[in-house]
Amino acid sequence: MRKVSGLPRWAVLAGLLFMLAGCGSDSAPVKLQGRAIGTTYSIVAYNLPDSLDAQQMQKGVEQVVAGVNSVMSLFNPGSELSRFNAYKGEDWFQVSKELAVVVRTAKTISLLTGGAFDITVAPLVNLWGFGPDARPERIPSAEQIAAAQGGIGFDFVHVRTDPPALKKVKPGITIDLAAIAKGYCVDAVADWLEQSGVSDFMVEIGGEIRTGGSKPGKTPWLIGVEKPTSGGRAVQAVIELSGRAMATSGDYRNYFEADGKRYSHIIDPVSGKPVSHSLVSVSVVEDSCTMADALATGLMVLGPEQGIKLAEKHKLSAFFIVKTADGFAETATGNFPEHKTLK
Ligand code: AMP
Ligand code: MG
Repeated sequence: MRKVSGLPRWAVLAGLLFMLAGCGSDSAPVKLQGRAIGTTYSIVAYNLPDSLDAQQMQKGVEQVVAGVNSVMSLFNPGSELSRFNAYKGEDWFQVSKELAVVVRTAKTISLLTGGAFDITVAPLVNLWGFGPDARPERIPSAEQIAAAQGGIGFDFVHVRTDPPALKKVKPGITIDLAAIAKGYCVDAVADWLEQSGVSDFMVEIGGEIRTGGSKPGKTPWLIGVEKPTSGGRAVQAVIELSGRAMATSGDYRNYFEADGKRYSHIIDPVSGKPVSHSLVSVSVVEDSCTMADALATGLMVLGPEQGIKLAEKHKLSAFFIVKTADGFAETATGNFPEHKTLK
């Protein structure tokens, strides 16, 4: 049976933020919540400049989110990305600069992770029943997997940024930015807030987060890394995150079970199957939430040994939670912020 959380992740994280914020701040926060690219967002900001009130901030955020939806959401059949996917031609397909830049970033992470991160993986995601069309949960045959694998490969999409365009060098290839677009949308909103003179904020979309400045009294933003369990919600560790982004990828929220085995929505393009290893969650801290989001998914595909090795080699600030016989083991790499593990 597919297990998808009933409660959005922001509820826990946002709840945690307030829990940890302490009471008695003299400056009231502006809080916004809404929907973006098929998930939810929550924003907390302090000290708005005189030029911006809460209503204007909400309008501005909604405009940014609508812009991202119109470019890269597959929930929107008229989005640029949906139109590129439907395009049958082999010529360059003109797109916005932002879409070209996100696809180029995705390809960079594909190269870095040896193809573990791959935005053309949708045929496999759909085959395993995690695509937009709900279908019976069953294990595909080896032939079906091989056929779907034949239709993927990040090399089959070419990208240029001047003028911005995408090109299919294999007919039928499609792009799904599910593993990077939330992070991109966080960056777009956070950049807009900064440009509008808001320097103390926390932006969260579907669990991916970027903060700026601090809370009143120079209190740092405290962000929770979720405990990777599917039944209920708890916090595994708490970190201070100021002026940076954190994204998390995990196998514990969206999966189905068949014959006592768990099949997650994170697919290894090499095996053509959902990942099956003891790594249950990876959080990555970067300046850019786009990068953090893509890296977290890529490391999640690579698994505990290869993922930790790659993170160490490239000095990535990552936090791995691995399932052990008696609970969870944590490994932090690079400059992952000091964290406090909650038991
Ligand atoms: P995230 O929650 O950011 O790790 O993204 C997970 C989503 O990305 C899945 O629900 C799929 O739609 C898609 N996905 C699954 N496997 C991969 C992969 N190997 N590379 C890129 N995207 C993937
Ligand atoms: Mg991701």
